[in-house]
Amino acid sequence: MGGEPSIAVDFADTLVTTTEPWTDLLADPAAATRWWQTQAARLPAGPPPDPLTARRLRNAVRDLLDSHLEGRAAHATSVEDVNAIAATVPTSVRIATDAAAPRAETRWHVEAGGNAPMAAVAREAVSLITDPERMGRLRRCANPECSMLFLAETKRRMWCTANLCGNRARAARHYQRTRSGTTDA
Ligand SMILES: [Zn+2]
Repeated sequence: MGGEPSIAVDFADTLVTTTEPWTDLLADPAAATRWWQTQAARLPAGPPPDPLTARRLRNAVRDLLDSHLEGRAAHATSVEDVNAIAATVPTSVRIATDAAAPRAETRWHVEAGGNAPMAAVAREAVSLITDPERMGRLRRCANPECSMLFLAETKRRMWCTANLCGNRARAARHYQRTRSGTTDA
């Protein structure tokens, strides 16, 4: 189904909360580096961030999104962590004239430290969490064995991926129907 429109949601999805214990897809530093490399096209340039700090940000984003869906308050530290990491790299905008038409370019000022890709994810988390329209479209996959979050582009979307979780759910319902002998849809 392609990438979600929010990198903050994709980042939150690197924590699988339906396993016991939870599965952290960024626990392995090599896997974490790969994740940042695959996201590079939609992030400012910069090296992969410190793995521990990145996981703290990820846990904070996951908690903020899960708490919204679960109707509970987020941990106070989650807000603090997102705000702190979003503030690590100041930005400025300028007119770039390297293309046929002038375009706005954002500069990420890492001169005083900070990691631009990670700060950009934190900033997108701020933007998402304070956007009632997008938060209204935040869903968790209807497959009870899947913890994937996504922004639903239509009210009908229930699964993270129709061809994986959606098919699995349809197959399970079909199995239930044929086993119980009922024919209700
Ligand atoms: Zn799913």
